[in-house]
Amino acid sequence: MLKDKKYKEYQITTKKCLYCETINGIADDICANCRRPLDRTKIIAEAESKEKELQELKKQMEELPRMINELISQKTEHLEEALKRKTKQNI
Ligand SMILES: [Zn+2]
Repeated sequence: MLKDKKYKEYQITTKKCLYCETINGIADDICANCRRPLDRTKIIAEAESKEKELQELKKQMEELPRMINELISQKTEHLEEALKRKTKQNI
């Protein structure tokens, strides 16, 4: 039991990179080799913020066709009006 505990304590003094498996010191926040965060919570937080960004982007992308259609219909209306005005002026 005692030996087991000691082994665990020894383990905690190092952090293994989840990406490249480089052994880093416990105080290190980022991997000395690949510069990625060593802290699992930081990795999760980073992944979550990226996911949020992606969701936001996806939402905007879904809105895009509708916005374009609206823009086109508005523009055609304006164009038609402008054309009508122009032809009226010509007459
Ligand atoms: Zn690494």
